Amino acid sequence: MGIYWVRERYAAGQSVFREGDWGEDAYLIEMGKVDITISRNGEEVTIATLQEGEMFGEIALVDRLPRTASVVVVEDCTLIPITRELVVSKMKQSDPLLSHLLGVVVSRYRETREGNPTRARTAADESSLRLRDYAINQLKIAQHLSDALVRDEFQLFFQPIVHLINGRLAGFEALIRWNQPDMGLVSPLGFIGVAEDTGLIVPIGRWVLKQAIATMATLQTAMDQRDPDNKGLFMSVNLSAKQLQDPGEVDALIGIIRDSGADPRRIKLEVTESALIDNPVLVKMYLTKLKDLGLMLAIDDFGTGYSSLSYLEQYPLDTLKIDQSFIATMRARTSSQRITRAIASLAYDLEMNCIAEGIEDEADIKPLLQMRCQFGQGYHFAKPMSEAQALDYILRRG
Ligand code: C2E
Ligand code: CA
Ligand code: CA
Repeated sequence: MGIYWVRERYAAGQSVFREGDWGEDAYLIEMGKVDITISRNGEEVTIATLQEGEMFGEIALVDRLPRTASVVVVEDCTLIPITRELVVSKMKQSDPLLSHLLGVVVSRYRETREGNPTRARTAADESSLRLRDYAINQLKIAQHLSDALVRDEFQLFFQPIVHLINGRLAGFEALIRWNQPDMGLVSPLGFIGVAEDTGLIVPIGRWVLKQAIATMATLQTAMDQRDPDNKGLFMSVNLSAKQLQDPGEVDALIGIIRDSGADPRRIKLEVTESALIDNPVLVKMYLTKLKDLGLMLAIDDFGTGYSSLSYLEQYPLDTLKIDQSFIATMRARTSSQRITRAIASLAYDLEMNCIAEGIEDEADIKPLLQMRCQFGQGYHFAKPMSEAQALDYILRRG
């Protein structure tokens, strides 16, 4: 990430900020001296003098409460502001435990300084409490996630993908679920990020692929009974960017597919645009390796990421999945409809197929067909379901 260190200059006597001000930056003193003062019984008391290389205002980076001290320049200063935005983005990449601890330390520090730990909560406190709840929850998830595989707490659900033209079943997307005994059913949105940060996504991803392939065989057998003409059901499996960054991992995934004896042409891997951005040369090599095996490759959530069109040519892709946010607002917003149309025709022109995600309303089908989008997925057709329910779905309707 590029950081542009801007500098602010202050003359002796100038105030940088005052106690009670709202501010979101900390400052590093590159040159000069400042006094840190607090008011006690109406009097301004200097509690520290800071110089070159020291930092002040750092608490505002962690929470959103007014400044607890004033800062006055005593010798002409050059200051480097460190923005909250930068720190928040760094914290998001860090261990949730670390950011939570940091939050606790800061709030204890404030309470001691203010000498009033029982004061009424402000809106800013509420927001830092929510942040704390989030951090604690992420922590719990990280703790329990490492045991989840051995405890057999994961389950795959399967959502039908259909031919829009006739509603016929084309395949399924495998979607992971976590039945955590204490926390209940945890959405993948709540734990995939933690799994990526902790590296657990690698063993979890292998498990998903294995299970999805096994279920694919079961579902195809059922389909053979119900409608012997519908031979080519496919199974779509989500791949995280992390799984594509490790050469050994791609070989492991290939090993799983080979060992399963499944027809690779019936397996589709879904990757997001962001997975293609880091290490594009390596990722291209891995995707080509997977493609050479006969697998199908899809770009998931297309239109929400970088949408850099050059990669559509560079990577051996079969499918664009139009993100559900465009489909959801397609009828209400012309802009969404135009974007959907543009993505569908891009897919068509590049000889890729196209899946509209998140179809909740029958009225969306006709315009999508007019846009030459062949496949659909969404609650209108079916919600994600267990393997048993998916079997039942096939036997009932084919
Ligand atoms: P995704 O890959 O975009 O999956 C589609 C999500 O949209 C699923 O949420 C699905 O239940 C939901 N959905 C489908 N149709 C509709 C609809 O008509 N309306 C609405 N509102 N939603 C619909 P889910 O199962 O909660 O999965 C969320 C995300 O978690 C997935 O988004 C995917 O990014 C990730 N994920 C799920 N399973 C796996 C996995 O095995 N591996 C990895 N790496 N990520 C996974
Ligand atoms: Ca997906
Ligand atoms: Ca998607």
